[in-house]
Amino acid sequence: MGTKIQAVKGMNDLLPVEQKDFKLTASFWQAFEDTVSRWAGRFGYQQIRTPIVEQTGLFVRSIGEETDVVGKEMYTFADSNDKLSLSLRPEGTASCLRAVVEHNLLYNNPQKLWYMGPMFRRERPQKGRYRQFHQVGIEALGFEGPDIDAEIIAMSADLWKELGIRDYLTLEINSLGNREERAAHRAALVAYLSRYEDKLDEDSKRRLYTNPLRVLDSKNPDLQEICNAAPHLTDYLGESSRAHYQQFKAMLDGLNIDYIENPRLVRGLDYYNQTVFEWTTDKLGAQATVCGGGRYDGLIEELGGKPAPSIGFAMGVERLLLLVREYGKLAFQTAPDIYAVHQGEGAVLQVMKYAQALRSDGWRVLQHSGYQSLKTQMKKADASGARFALIVAQSELSDGTVTLKDMSGRHAQVTVDAALLSDTLEQWKNN
Ligand code: ATP
Ligand code: MG
Repeated sequence: MGTKIQAVKGMNDLLPVEQKDFKLTASFWQAFEDTVSRWAGRFGYQQIRTPIVEQTGLFVRSIGEETDVVGKEMYTFADSNDKLSLSLRPEGTASCLRAVVEHNLLYNNPQKLWYMGPMFRRERPQKGRYRQFHQVGIEALGFEGPDIDAEIIAMSADLWKELGIRDYLTLEINSLGNREERAAHRAALVAYLSRYEDKLDEDSKRRLYTNPLRVLDSKNPDLQEICNAAPHLTDYLGESSRAHYQQFKAMLDGLNIDYIENPRLVRGLDYYNQTVFEWTTDKLGAQATVCGGGRYDGLIEELGGKPAPSIGFAMGVERLLLLVREYGKLAFQTAPDIYAVHQGEGAVLQVMKYAQALRSDGWRVLQHSGYQSLKTQMKKADASGARFALIVAQSELSDGTVTLKDMSGRHAQVTVDAALLSDTLEQWKNN
């Protein structure tokens, strides 16, 4: 026997059953994906799927060289000809916009798009933080807002409600203003933080000059006081940014969506401006952010497209589903409706035919494979969780009948003409 090969650290299998340290099953996940595509459809958003691998330059240019994601978390490798640097995508927005620009989708036509799929970041794995994780994201491209800003918040709130976790999530918002406003704030921030340079940790010292806004994002408890008293970006907003933010907030008020204004909310990627937001929870320990997003009005132009104001968000599927599993609701069926049992020569073929007919009527039928005793097969039927057992043994085979057993005990076992099979099950199902 060869030695066993294990999955890569921080990358999970989705199994039919729960694992000790990873409670999400494939069917739970599938039910979520179904919910998501119905949800996106309700809002008129169209799905987009892009490759998992992109040229490294795409992420460097959009996410930013000095961010943690590009600076230390990407899986980057040379293509076989060594000339091209490729990376596994660490997030979805860059790829989505690359595709939109490449295929000219914005030509005379704003776009409301959604996507889902795996993302890759080399982080320290822990609960709610993985190296392959999944995001569902939406991007609204070519809209100035602030109505669309409010729409996508309402859209996310709608999903939380459907998943039964609305009460466990808090909306935090902020405005990052435009480029000039950020530059003015940045200068004030650097001046302020420089006064405390000897108190900053190594990460923050480095960021002070490369990406000072991100110092405000620091989770280091020793720096909280300094960060809280730092100049607020919102105090540097000009008239039009201020108006955008005010109208956005007024719409949230009008939609009865509560929020907290967090002047320190800056988001980890470079491309954001104006409206930014996060949905956070106190139920997942340190991995508190379930969904985050904001405006990135300059990004499409940065990627070679005609300028188009845009906004989007991405949610972490693992975090969201851990929350849903614990506190929310998501209906799905793993058990078959019917377990098909057979005994004796020729019975298996007959039962396969009945099973096939039932499936075309929409029933979920699990056919017993192999030739065990009736008793063993009925045990399997029980363990499968099926509501009904369909039994064809020699007597049924010879007189064209079937035996039906309601595993829930609500109806007495019957043997009926095969022509009545579907009707009987239909009746039983409804009471
Ligand atoms: P965090 O601060 O938790 O590292 P982030 O700001 O890096 O999050 P984004 O790039 O905004 O995350 O991605 C959007 C969402 O994707 C996050 O809010 C989170 O729910 C999820 N996410 C990000 N990184 C991971 C990861 N390594 N494992 C699982 N989910 C993740
Ligand atoms: Mg991160």
